[in-house]
Amino acid sequence: MKYSVLGILGLVFASLLEAPAQAVKPTKPPTGKDAVSKKIDPAPQPAPPVVSTTLVVPSWLPPTNPVQPAATIAHDLLDTKLDVRFDWGRQWLLGTATLTVRPHFYPQTQLVLDAKGFDIKSVRLVTGNKEKNLTYNYDRKKITVNLDRQYPRTESCEVRIQYVAKPNELEVSGSDAIREDKGLYFINPAGTEKNKPRQVWTQGETESNSCWFPTIDRPNQRMTQEVSLTVEAELKTLSNGILVSSRKNNDGTRTDTWRQNLPHAPYLTMLAVGNFAVVSDTWRGKAVDYYVDPRFSNTAKAVFGRTPEMMEFFSKKLGVDFPWEKYAQVAVHDFVTGAMENTTAVTFAQNIVQFTARELPDIGYEPEATVAHELFHHWFGNYVTAESWANLPLNESFADYSEYLWAEYKYGTDAAALVQQQKLSKYLDEAQNKREPLVRYRYAKHEDMFDAHSYEKGARVLHMLRKLVGDDAFFTALNRYLTQNKFSSSEIAELRVAFEETTGEDLMWFFDQWFLQRGHPELKVSHSFAGGQVSLRVQQQQDSTFSPIYRLPVTITIWSNNQVTDYRVVVNKADQTFRFTVPQRPSLVKFDSESQLLAQIDEERTQEELLFQFSHARNYLQKYEAIDLLRSKNGELAVSGMLRNALSDRFWAVRQAAAGALRRYRGPEGNAVRQELRRVVTSDKKSQVRAAALATLAAFPNEDFGSTYLAALNDSSYRVVSAAVQALAKTPTVDARDKINALQETTSQEVLQALSVYYSLNGSTTEQYQWFLRRLPDATEETLYSGYLPNFATFMLRIPTIEREKGVQRLEGLARSAPSSIVRLGAYRGLSILATNMPVLKATMQDIRNKEKDEQVKAFYALMQ
Ligand SMILES: [Zn+2]
Repeated sequence: MKYSVLGILGLVFASLLEAPAQAVKPTKPPTGKDAVSKKIDPAPQPAPPVVSTTLVVPSWLPPTNPVQPAATIAHDLLDTKLDVRFDWGRQWLLGTATLTVRPHFYPQTQLVLDAKGFDIKSVRLVTGNKEKNLTYNYDRKKITVNLDRQYPRTESCEVRIQYVAKPNELEVSGSDAIREDKGLYFINPAGTEKNKPRQVWTQGETESNSCWFPTIDRPNQRMTQEVSLTVEAELKTLSNGILVSSRKNNDGTRTDTWRQNLPHAPYLTMLAVGNFAVVSDTWRGKAVDYYVDPRFSNTAKAVFGRTPEMMEFFSKKLGVDFPWEKYAQVAVHDFVTGAMENTTAVTFAQNIVQFTARELPDIGYEPEATVAHELFHHWFGNYVTAESWANLPLNESFADYSEYLWAEYKYGTDAAALVQQQKLSKYLDEAQNKREPLVRYRYAKHEDMFDAHSYEKGARVLHMLRKLVGDDAFFTALNRYLTQNKFSSSEIAELRVAFEETTGEDLMWFFDQWFLQRGHPELKVSHSFAGGQVSLRVQQQQDSTFSPIYRLPVTITIWSNNQVTDYRVVVNKADQTFRFTVPQRPSLVKFDSESQLLAQIDEERTQEELLFQFSHARNYLQKYEAIDLLRSKNGELAVSGMLRNALSDRFWAVRQAAAGALRRYRGPEGNAVRQELRRVVTSDKKSQVRAAALATLAAFPNEDFGSTYLAALNDSSYRVVSAAVQALAKTPTVDARDKINALQETTSQEVLQALSVYYSLNGSTTEQYQWFLRRLPDATEETLYSGYLPNFATFMLRIPTIEREKGVQRLEGLARSAPSSIVRLGAYRGLSILATNMPVLKATMQDIRNKEKDEQVKAFYALMQ
């Protein structure tokens, strides 16, 4: 799985913490901007409770959660056959499930199945052609079936259940977040929503597939399956495995049957129904299909088209050929998470994989990374499955690491280093508030496991493991792990054993400190030179009451007298000094020169050393670090010279960082710097770099780059156009006005957002007011939250109160009842902006706060007070 809904809320939370409520953030928050070695400022925290006079419990130490062991296996699921139809009007699934089960070890007289919120019509034992009714108890969560006799572990039996699944009538327990847990989703079922297709799709992970078929909904089960779907003739279907039959029925419907002959865990079962266009590829004779909305069939290959090459790359790298029968990927509307690795039928949120041709240049690595991530689960997760959610890193750390592996193979070491940087930063951000062991047997909810620990931290730990044992051993051990555990569930010890058996080395220390203990190293590194020796001091400053003193094999590189020497050392004490004899005072001493450690590193270096580091950097991260640590000195000649060089770097992220670091340049080379930035705006190949340079130009105070902005309005990239509109919002020109108005019907969310900024700062006409109201339904939840609604409110402050009525009503309506929590928040922010000169709204806002049910939204309101 990738990117949970909670992730979006987390992002909202972060932006609320760093900015006052009224702040309008017109663009998506940047990622990965924190330097690897920079100390991260802690977020505002409540004061930690004092437990005794000396021991202060850090705020990230959670309360003690319950132990969550792997599920006891009474029966093994062997096969599941489903025959389903849909009642679109009532949003029900009418199903018949036939399950083949066998006692795991101990003889059984009862079979307990998960089945959430069903109407059960019948439960029968099937023997050959005969069926016989069985008695059962049902508590709306589990069915306990009384078998006709005791079954030993040598004997399987077949049970058939007729049922109606009513996912919208499930009991809602706790918060609204549970709504995202209903397993089966009808999208636009009545066909009344404009611009949205009618679809049905499912989401099983973690244990929600039992909301639409009876099963043993645990990751330590696996089964073969056959799913028959009866649908209206014009709709397409997709499920796991191969389409084995498709027949027309007399009533005008069609029944498609999908069969998967290789076993997988029940949470990986899926179905999707809709009016999809199918774009076909192939890999070694296996079907590789992309299911998309018909209007995106011309760009589907631009997004998904590297799938066959990925299948080849991963198959070779792991020494295990992609084992499944086909590979399909489907884009669906209103998906509850980013993407889900359902075996051979991966589901994606449509907005992360469907783009128009014009949008393609701006999409970056994210969509392709997600394709790699879900594909890699077909080895780590689907072929070998974590036995319990406590062991989720066995699925997600690998899937996350595949994004690095693919970047490294396809786009080179710089691109891989950028992935490393962004992901490390994401974990370190999370670690400000949460530090858990990677594999953790205590947690509150399964969903809590889907965090930047299981994904980003785990993948960095795998990278360190690879650096420790070497590439050959790493991939040989992964092959061993996959081969020995295929079609079964595993726990972390099995991964360790595979590495120990491969390398012959004891790796308990590595697995213990990284997988089973919480936290990460916080290192202070300094060096000095005297008497022909470099002394490098490493202090482990993490709180050793809660985190270990780490053992860290690491490379130190010294540049001295035009020689570069790598030293491999092991840091294993809280305070340690390493000495190296060198021919003369070194130009640079670099700790962890491979940038592979999962750590916060505060490494002392002079400006001279950092300049040397930039010009002799081995990878993107070393260049980025020099740029980042010297950005505050951009007025100095040597630094601006480095930054100007960086604007022509071969790797785009270095150019982007340099453009950002030249913001508010006040040095003596002003004209040359501006000239250089204009060159970048007009000619850099990468739209992200052009947009960054444009934003830097716009930050120069009291200057007129109007002609550059005007030209950028014609850029082929929406991102650059949007940066130009925002620049012009601050320095509007008469020439630009008509060109900006000509963008009003844009299909780009970024441009829509930029226009809302422009009008909020410069507009006051009725036509613009109508524009805000008219385009509001076209803005996505993210656009509405992160700018459109607050900007609309700011705009309204510029028009007479009497004319605001409709706009205020829209904001109030959304703040009260928008289904999306971030839209409610965005609308509320809008109201709070208007309240600055419409005090009458304060009572309305109070009422909205009182009536809000979502705990997280309520927490945000409390923060905004
Ligand atoms: Zn995943």
